[in-house]
Amino acid sequence: MKRVFLETYGCQMNVADSELMAGVLERAGMELVDTPADADAVILNTCAIREHAELRVIGRLGEFAHLKLSKPDLIVGVAGCMAQHLRSKLLPKKKRVLDLVVGPDGYRDLPNLLRQAANVPTAEIRLDRDETYGDLEPKRAPGVRAWVTVQRGCDKFCTYCVVPYTRGRERSLPMADLIRQVEHASEQGFCEIVFLGQTVNSYHDGDHDFADLLRATNEVPGIVRIRYTSPHPSDLSERLIAAMAECEKVMPHMHLPLQSGSDAVLSAMNRTYSIAEYDALLSRLRAAIPHIAVTTDMIVGFPGESDADFEASMAYMRQARFDSAFLFKYSARPDTRAYKTAETVSEEEKGRRLTVMIDQQHQISGEHNDAWVGREAEVLIEGISHGDESQLHGKTREFKTVVVANDGTPAGSLKRVRVTGATTMTLFAEALDAPRREALVTIGG
Ligand code: SF4
Repeated sequence: MKRVFLETYGCQMNVADSELMAGVLERAGMELVDTPADADAVILNTCAIREHAELRVIGRLGEFAHLKLSKPDLIVGVAGCMAQHLRSKLLPKKKRVLDLVVGPDGYRDLPNLLRQAANVPTAEIRLDRDETYGDLEPKRAPGVRAWVTVQRGCDKFCTYCVVPYTRGRERSLPMADLIRQVEHASEQGFCEIVFLGQTVNSYHDGDHDFADLLRATNEVPGIVRIRYTSPHPSDLSERLIAAMAECEKVMPHMHLPLQSGSDAVLSAMNRTYSIAEYDALLSRLRAAIPHIAVTTDMIVGFPGESDADFEASMAYMRQARFDSAFLFKYSARPDTRAYKTAETVSEEEKGRRLTVMIDQQHQISGEHNDAWVGREAEVLIEGISHGDESQLHGKTREFKTVVVANDGTPAGSLKRVRVTGATTMTLFAEALDAPRREALVTIGG
């Protein structure tokens, strides 16, 4: 058992968990490989948030069943939220292909679990209220950006969401451990930190809250930008808004999930805020941090969502004018409270509502981006554009994607640009400063 292929599905928390697993495996003398064909073991780090995500993994397992015909000793494992969600049901259901099921709190022992799975089908699905992996160093993918998980689990129990069941109860890492992780990431050459948590702003280690963590990170040399995702509106404190406004390295962008523009639906979702409260928050945020970009998540077709509720979502999105939004059809997930509620919106109607909402948001996002034309921006260059060596790409402080001519400026550089054109997704720009020959930092990883 030497070579492991790790494939990640789902959210950024899973990407960070895969980096954690990669660190655990490498410290145990195992090597990560790029293809299943080169591997002794494959691990799928999975997502359970929507049925579609689970179906993709089931399809992938079918491919590994085929690979096992020519590699009968191949160990196949499923990790992450789907493993926890389906628990021991998964092993017998997929017994021809699956050897290991490991939930999000079982990664510390992954090398031993893999060895055990070589002899007997193995499941490690206990949730551990204390496990934070705070002492384990992840093996980060190269790039400008380091993901740092500050908190695991969730106590919010939104009625549509499996996360509290798959990732367990909320617990925060000690701030001292996190600052040590940030300093180490800086020493490795990463210049942007993204803090991760299911409700990242409810972070509290007993002595320090999330505002304290941002202020402390702002002082770490070598780190030029700080971001975080995703905050919960109910935990967005004045202390946090003040820290964002006052810390120069904390970027003026917030992804603040709304989910619905109807108070009745928000209540049925157990989102714990009203539209009026969310809107007041948005106003305070925009007053404290002028030009902040605000993005959101919305769900259409939640059980009970009437035409009027949907229209309320559409109307609020026109009023709030989010810079962009991730828009989803409601997907009923076993184990959740909403799963027990009869669906009232047909798949066809969910699809129609989603299309209408996407069209409206495209229009608003396009108008936001058009307003950037002629303005100057600071871009953190991330590298050469995929498929076009004549272009560089990077992000503005507001997390807008920018494309600029490749003048040899290396990834990790901050570049002044003027925006010359825009689409819904991308800003096009010309450089205002001379080409840099050295990055501010070396590229981490
Ligand atoms: S806040 Fe709600 S949607 Fe987010 S992870 Fe927790 S339960 Fe799920």
